[in-house]
Amino acid sequence: MRLGRLFAALLFYAGPLCAAGEGLGLPARLTTVDDGRATIHQLFSSFGGVLERGWELDIIAYSQPEDTGYEIPIIALRSAQSGPAIWIISGIHGEEPAGPNAIAAAIDDIVAAGELQPIVFIPLGNPHGYVRNWRYLNSPVWSDDTEVQSVGDSSHLLPDPDNVRQARAAVASSLEAAAITRYILQKMAEYPPVISIDLHEDDKIDAGYVYSQGVKGVQEPLATEAVRILRDNEIPIKLDGYTRFDEKIISGIVGPVVDSSIDELMGAHEIIVDGVRHSGPGAPVVLVFETPAGKLPLERRVRAHAALLKRMLMLVSGSKL
Ligand SMILES: [Zn+2]
Repeated sequence: MRLGRLFAALLFYAGPLCAAGEGLGLPARLTTVDDGRATIHQLFSSFGGVLERGWELDIIAYSQPEDTGYEIPIIALRSAQSGPAIWIISGIHGEEPAGPNAIAAAIDDIVAAGELQPIVFIPLGNPHGYVRNWRYLNSPVWSDDTEVQSVGDSSHLLPDPDNVRQARAAVASSLEAAAITRYILQKMAEYPPVISIDLHEDDKIDAGYVYSQGVKGVQEPLATEAVRILRDNEIPIKLDGYTRFDEKIISGIVGPVVDSSIDELMGAHEIIVDGVRHSGPGAPVVLVFETPAGKLPLERRVRAHAALLKRMLMLVSGSKL
């Protein structure tokens, strides 16, 4: 289905659910950057559809970066059934629309898989970033001069490699990062992650790769399968060499990296909370998909992310999507 038609269908379907979005504190007149991505109202309408199918909504935080003038909720949705869970994270970087749009496109598959395996998803980690195409809370792009604030920054919880008794940062770098990481810690006992999937893009690369932060690293079969699905969906993959951050790529996969990301947190077995050592989420499988955005149409990127998501859901939950 063409993306435009898909969103038209979502919009058509969205009538009563738009009200739900507004009920979540989504300002009605909020405008989303017009580059072909779904509007945030369309996304929330789609995500909110799971509530009618018995899922639970959590408002993680109301995000209001400086100079924005209004707040937008960061939401999580989870299957009513708790237990070992699939965690899906997206929209950490606001200029990467494919992930959140793919979750909206695959929402029925998420619900179907959720019948068999508990699921928690945080579909739009940086909602202000999404509506204005800003990567970070306080900057559109990465910058040498500014201390950029990523909503996924987990450095206040991850042990410092030079002194594992203390965290890398004394406090969270933003209210949003504090709230998202706190939410993960609150829910990880009830919904312990068996896999964490984080959907990203990168407009500075021409070929993508898959980070595998879990215990099997580059040997993780689901990472190998993810590479196959991306290639099947016409996404160029860099099979060897190095990422633009100088990380080694083996068969399209990058092994565990220390980057203070939410993904490192999801895989962490030990964390530091207020100076005290605790067990971390410890997801055995942590995958981060990094697909090229610069030269590929959004429609193709969304289709690839949705296909990937469906395949991962199918393999992990055992559903026949
Ligand atoms: Zn990203």
